[in-house]
Amino acid sequence: MKDMVLLGSTGSIGTQALDVAKLHNIKVTALSAGSNAELLIRQAEEFSPKYVCIADESKYRDLKSGLSGKGIELMCGKECLCALAALPCDTVVNAIVGTAGFAPALSAVSAGNKLALANKESLVVGGEIITSIVKEKGTCLFPIDSEHSAIFQCLTGRGNNKPKKLILTASGGPFRGYTSEMLKTVDKAQALKHPNWNMGAKITVDSATMMNKGLELIEAVWLFDVLPEQVEIVVHPQSILHSAVEFEDGSVIGQMGTPDMRIPIQLALTYPNRCPSCAKPLSLFGVTMTFEKPDEKAFPCMGLARSALKKGGNMPCIMNKANEIAVGMFLRDKLSFCEIPEKISWAMENVGFSEKISLDIITETERETEEILK
Ligand code: NAD
Ligand code: MG
Repeated sequence: MKDMVLLGSTGSIGTQALDVAKLHNIKVTALSAGSNAELLIRQAEEFSPKYVCIADESKYRDLKSGLSGKGIELMCGKECLCALAALPCDTVVNAIVGTAGFAPALSAVSAGNKLALANKESLVVGGEIITSIVKEKGTCLFPIDSEHSAIFQCLTGRGNNKPKKLILTASGGPFRGYTSEMLKTVDKAQALKHPNWNMGAKITVDSATMMNKGLELIEAVWLFDVLPEQVEIVVHPQSILHSAVEFEDGSVIGQMGTPDMRIPIQLALTYPNRCPSCAKPLSLFGVTMTFEKPDEKAFPCMGLARSALKKGGNMPCIMNKANEIAVGMFLRDKLSFCEIPEKISWAMENVGFSEKISLDIITETERETEEILK
């Protein structure tokens, strides 16, 4: 691996991808961020990319004053993210959060680029479109999400054997063991305190509601071509077993490691090679691993994801967009924790359903969901 285009470089995954780039001398051809011009400028000074793009056009002036005269081509706006994703390069890393990651993901695979994907939302809204283009172009889609990276690794070397079941592990988030009653009084500060992972705000709240596992269930179905019923969610609070696969003969193959996203990010960049990493090695001495059934009554988002997947068409897109809006409102203190699934469920009943899915339908569905939840 010689070079990468990194979208969402200022976030949790993005900054860790740059740690990996530094460790392995991977050239960074392009960097992009949503609105954090200050950090983007510092990253550009350190990694000297050819292109730097900021999605938020109002921050373009800051970018220009920080980086002009340095021989870097500066850009802004959503369309430029798609142009960067289509640049000739070894790998496009998509570490954008939310549905904004879909169009660049599509652009990367349409250009025949290998896509290392952290942005699970793009598979939730348009998994069918993205995976069919990956097949058509004969390119590669490599998951960065730790559970999906684990499953990918467990499936390596399976020959023609189909998995019987995917075991998708979940930490359970900060509210594991809480009853519906207890969840009525939780606040933002509690939801943002994840026990095992240090991540961006949106995915941290998704982990607290367990919608993250719902999104990951849909992500797994598209990535590994399995039926939803073949994916079992298992709560494993220690986040040591990152997921597993059960085969017909009863063998269960799992992948373990310390909870450090730099392991799956690095593998997505260096596969099939395994190189030394910044992560702490795992010592099994003193480790206890426990497993529980998820509480789908207290955490209804997993069920919402399952029913959206079953309904198909634009329903996962409605669910995903409604979740993104509801989480945003929760983070702005406009919604309580328990109102998040209520809002999503309401949107799923009220936004126009389409059996078919296309880029235009996704755009229209997102617009309508936004309109109805305003
Ligand atoms: P984050 O909020 O820390 O970072 C998001 C990045 O996207 C930032 O660089 C931000 O500037 C950029 N961005 C935000 N809005 C944008 C927009 N409208 N257009 C363009 N860029 C925009 O998020 P994160 O935790 O790094 O997560 C990124 C993605 O990776 C998410 O889809 C998340 O579900 C997935 N993921 C994250 C982790 C983790 O450990 N953080 C683990 C697994 C999967
Ligand atoms: Mg995950």
